[in-house]
Parts: sequence; structure tokens; C-alpha cells
Amino acid sequence: MISQRTLFLTYQAQTSSAPMMLEIIKARGIILTDYKGKRYMDLISGIAVSNLGHAYPSVNRAIQKQLRQYTHLMVYGEIIQSPQVQLAQLLCAQLPPSLQSVYYVSSGSEAIEGALKLAKRVTNRREMAAFEFAYHGSTHGALSIQGSETYKQAFRPLLPGYRMLRFNNQEDLSNITEDTACVVVEPVQGEAGCLPADTAWLKALRARCDKTGALLIFDEVQTGYGRTGSMFTFQQYDVLPDILVLAKGFGGGLPLGAFISSKSNMALLAKNPVLGHITTFGGHPLCCAASLQTLKELLSQDYIQSVEEKANLFREELNHPAIICISGKGLMLGVEFESAELNKRIIAQCMQNGLLTDWFLFNDKKLRLTPPLIITHKQIKQACRLLKKSIDEVLTIR
Ligand code: PMP
Repeated sequence: MISQRTLFLTYQAQTSSAPMMLEIIKARGIILTDYKGKRYMDLISGIAVSNLGHAYPSVNRAIQKQLRQYTHLMVYGEIIQSPQVQLAQLLCAQLPPSLQSVYYVSSGSEAIEGALKLAKRVTNRREMAAFEFAYHGSTHGALSIQGSETYKQAFRPLLPGYRMLRFNNQEDLSNITEDTACVVVEPVQGEAGCLPADTAWLKALRARCDKTGALLIFDEVQTGYGRTGSMFTFQQYDVLPDILVLAKGFGGGLPLGAFISSKSNMALLAKNPVLGHITTFGGHPLCCAASLQTLKELLSQDYIQSVEEKANLFREELNHPAIICISGKGLMLGVEFESAELNKRIIAQCMQNGLLTDWFLFNDKKLRLTPPLIITHKQIKQACRLLKKSIDEVLTIR
């Protein structure tokens, strides 16, 4: 029989010459099990997705219940579907009066595309600004405002009129002008290696947008739903976006994204042209059921409240001389080593030792720690022990 491994390499498009090649057959909590029975602690949550871990019982039950009722019925926004409505209501209950209208999509990139279109429509301007080393997705619009030339150069022409500014840089804010439709920012830059925005800078960014009339879009695709220690990270900064973008952890393990704004902004997508944004699967009932149950769990359990304590435990336990620094916010951490080569060998050794982690798209000296929020203190200590063991093993072989 041809192995899954061979079939994977033969028939599935590959975008890298070095895929992880783990063949996982079961995932429960923070443990992934491969086809040989080897167990891995998941320290990345499918890149900030599985915030409640894998197969969280009540989320699974909610998906199964919805599965018995209906799956896809109709393209977005035509038929009243209870999981969509219930989720939007509970979501909006967590959000301020200026963010009370939810448009569902299926991914982060798609949510960014919708947010960019909405900003053009609201401001009647065409220019956009974003930040160096930002990642907002791989579709053309999102790619245009991605902060790395490496990933853009082969795909030009992209959207005209975008400006890339330096993150956390006060001076560059003057490039936001009366021609700017929107500024897209991650409150904690994910793929740059978990770099939090400075509070004063984010407030200055908000003030500059207010002054120029540009809309401020927060990409909370990685930070959303509790990862940094509050339901949404903008709450910790006390800075309100005009448009909030969610995906990844928002879907509770299923593909779901959203862009959220005011009722009056969103109303513009209904006229001139009518159906100003269309999606077939956006807000799929199974995904909304999973997201709704995830949100209920995050509201009723103390996972979010324990994020800071758990993050501190990681920082305390990871006391190894080879670690240069640990950046990030909450359970969105980047562990920096002296070189990309060392980092990659440590990541490979972690894999050997049953720890699943990886590096960042724009920072290959850093190892990613974005575990499920349900990770226990005991598991954190065990993970840190194994991580330090992996570092030691790599350093002695070197
Ligand atoms: N924004 C951010 C901050 C992301 O990290 C990502 C995905 N890594 C995206 C947008 C795009 O999301 P998706 O891959 O679901 O299109």
C-alpha cells in the first residue's frame, strides 16, 4: 500500500521543501498522537487556532448538534441561521457600541479583504497603510499590505497606493494623511515574532487616524479570543478600532473569520452596489456553532484570566543561557536564539522530544509558543523541561 506520506508529497501541492511531515491521527487537549502512537505536546495550536485545545468536549457536542440540524443552506446573509445570529449577539455583547455589526467570512485573509473594501467604501479614499513585518494574509489585497518584500515581489502588480510604515515608530505616523482610507495593524505582530505594540504609540496611531479621517483596522486574527489575556487585545490598550478583524481562534477549530464595524459603516455594503461583499461559506453554521460554544467557554471558565499567570510561568521556567529573550503578550510568545540555524535545530530536536513548535515567517531566530490556553501548570513545566533538554542536546552535538 502506498504510504500517506508518499501520497501527501505526490498529490498535495507543496509550498515548502521542508514540511513537518508529522502524520497525526488523533488530537485531544494539547496532545497530538501520530500514526506510530508517538505523542506531541502542541505548543502552537495550529498557529493560534485551537485556543481550547483539540476536541474540547462541549465544542464537539455543539458541532455534532448543529450537524444533525443542517450544514450549508445558502450564501451568506440571506437566510436566518441560528448559530450565526446567536454568535453575533454574544460577540457584540463583548464589544463597544461602535462595533455592533458582524460580517462573517471563512478565513483571516478574507476578513482582511472585506475590511479593506469596507474602508474604501466608508472613506471614499484609496490609499492604505500597514506596517513592516505585518502578516495579514496571502490573497492579493492582504498581500499588498504584508510587511515583507520577499513574499510580494513575485506577485506584482498588487494593489496600488499602499504605504508600509515602521511598527512602533512615531515619526512614520505622519505618512497617514487625508488620502489614507485605512491603517491596518496587529496589536501584537505575530509573524514578526510576537512583538507587542507600545501603548503610547497605539494611542498616537488612533489619534492620527482621528485627525486624518483614516479608519483604524485591528487585525486580531492571532490575538483574538483570549490569547493575550483579554477576549480582544484592543481592550488591554484601551484603543478602539473602527474595524475589528477576527479569524483563527475565533472559529473554535473550524474555518471562520469576521470583520466587525458599526451598523452605519456596514450598511454601505448593501448599496451602490447592492451585495457589496459576497461569500458562499462565510459564517458556515458548523463553524459558528463551534465559535459560539468556544466563546461561551471562554466567558464561563477562567482560561483567559489564567493566561498571564501561565505566560509568567513559561518565562520563569525558560531560564536557559542560550535564550536571548522572550517577547510577546500573554500566551503569544517568541523565544529568541542567537541564529536561525540554532533555532531550526532546536525546533527539530523538540519534535524528537515530543514537543511541537515552529519559527515565524518573518523571524527565523525565534521559536513560537502559542499553546492552547487550557494548558496546565504541570504541562507548562513539562514542556519547558523538554525544551531546555532539546536546547542542551543541540548544543552538545554542536
Ligand atoms: N492576519 C494575521 C495576523 C495572521 O496571522 C494570519 C494568518 N497567519 C492572517 C491574517 C491570515 O489568515 P488566514 O491564513 O486564515 O487567511
